[in-house]
Amino acid sequence: MAILGAKTFQNYIAGEWVDAVSGETFESTSPADGETLGAFPKSAQADVDRAAAAAKEAFEHWRLVPAPKRGEILFRFAQLMTDEKEDLSQLMTHEMGKVLPEARGDVQEAIDMAFYMGGEGRRLFGQTTPSELRDKFNMSVRMPIGVVGVITPWNFPIAIPSWKILPALICGDTVVFKPATDTPTLGERFVELLADAGVPPGVVNVVHGGGGEVGNAIVTHPDVPVITLTGSRETGVAVTKAAADRLKHVHLELGGKNAIIVLDDADLDLAVEGIVWSAFGTSGQRCTAASRVIAHESVYDQLVSRLVAEAEKLRLGVGWDDETDVGPVINRSALEKIHSYTEIGRDEGAKLLTGGEVASGNGLGKGFYYRPTIFGDVDPEMRIAQEEIFGPTTAVIKVRDLDEAIRVSNGIRYGLSSSIFTQDVNRAFRAMRDLKAGITYINAGTIGAEVHLPFGGTKDTGNGHREAGQAALDFFTEWKSIYVDYSGKLQKAQIDTAE
Ligand code: NAD
Repeated sequence: MAILGAKTFQNYIAGEWVDAVSGETFESTSPADGETLGAFPKSAQADVDRAAAAAKEAFEHWRLVPAPKRGEILFRFAQLMTDEKEDLSQLMTHEMGKVLPEARGDVQEAIDMAFYMGGEGRRLFGQTTPSELRDKFNMSVRMPIGVVGVITPWNFPIAIPSWKILPALICGDTVVFKPATDTPTLGERFVELLADAGVPPGVVNVVHGGGGEVGNAIVTHPDVPVITLTGSRETGVAVTKAAADRLKHVHLELGGKNAIIVLDDADLDLAVEGIVWSAFGTSGQRCTAASRVIAHESVYDQLVSRLVAEAEKLRLGVGWDDETDVGPVINRSALEKIHSYTEIGRDEGAKLLTGGEVASGNGLGKGFYYRPTIFGDVDPEMRIAQEEIFGPTTAVIKVRDLDEAIRVSNGIRYGLSSSIFTQDVNRAFRAMRDLKAGITYINAGTIGAEVHLPFGGTKDTGNGHREAGQAALDFFTEWKSIYVDYSGKLQKAQIDTAE
């Protein structure tokens, strides 16, 4: 199915659609069937320079637009996204590969974020406090910071840009946005709709291209003081180092190795459903995917055999086919990486229970498909239980009790999502307290987030910031404390005392 007819796209800088200075392009192709979706500017430093200059100039008027007016633009954007939801979802299933219902969820998350952040235009609360001194008024207000560099991955090609760009805009910042090279069409559509909603020229700019060129140029640019990146741990470390010389504000949302604990009193029907959805939804390519299952020894055998049976029922195929449960993985190198972990798991002595192979029959050979894969008898220290595979592979680990389950769940470098299935409220509350992760689910899988709560992880999943909710506002603004002394005389804090 030709969805775009291989159109040539451009960067969007200062309200104009422009080619890369170099004139070079790269292609976006579908992981489902190899279809070419379009050609995009292969940009570099010179393009980022132009975009940063436009964003810097636009900041001087955007910061002065009243926040409720900025909010009205976001409400219009939410409406446009709602009108375009089906087209965007179709485009996503072609460009990124996820199945259509999940693509619709991805777009819906951006719509939710647009409404939520639009509403913030009438809040953006600061504080007023009493003063130590007479005839003095104290308040704190949120101030916009300037140009934000937004660098995003391909796995949530509409939702993740919305988590970053919409709070930045409501806070009064301007944006230079680099979408992932695997999903540039969706990044381009996102920005087009923002422009249609009334975002003024220069306020949001998009520059397409690779991480090493465009991403690095944004991260090191002197006029881009704020960087928000979602990607792998390795990229997060590189970006932190590159931004260090300029003491930039850096927000990182990185990898995960999330676990679902299933205790002896769990509702097994529910647990099986939650695990299959969390491990194989989006072909395991969610940062919150369940790549480990920690099962109490008394339910281990039953759980494993039911999981294998369910995994084997999953139908692989193109995401726009209603019959498909699991779509492709993003590209050839992802497919190779996922398969290499099957080899690693085997070599480590884990038991391959199902999957473990590339699927190419029934017309799947034109895309990148991997069979849902389950390893049993996994030791918590094995590489398949420690490293992020980012594919439809999960490792089942047997434990004796809740203490061991929590120890194993926490025994990784990441801390994004966690989950426990139990009917015992006391054990559930212990898990809520002791699981070292930014997200804990009780009696549900590891995936799924609502936009009005903070999103992010502990340990190597990030650097302490959070996306979404009120927490996002803390990253995209700086606090200013304002003291108004109306006493008509010089009062000295900590020295003069009011009576
Ligand atoms: P990636 O790190 O390869 O790329 C992410 C983005 O960073 C891309 O736009 C890429 O071009 C850019 N980039 C790469 N090197 C760069 C550099 N040196 N300087 C600046 N930019 C650079 O990640 P990916 O493969 O696109 O996405 C998968 C990863 O993202 C996984 O590790 C996954 O867990 C993580 N992720 C995390 C979250 C979260 O919220 N914690 C959400 C989704 C995905």
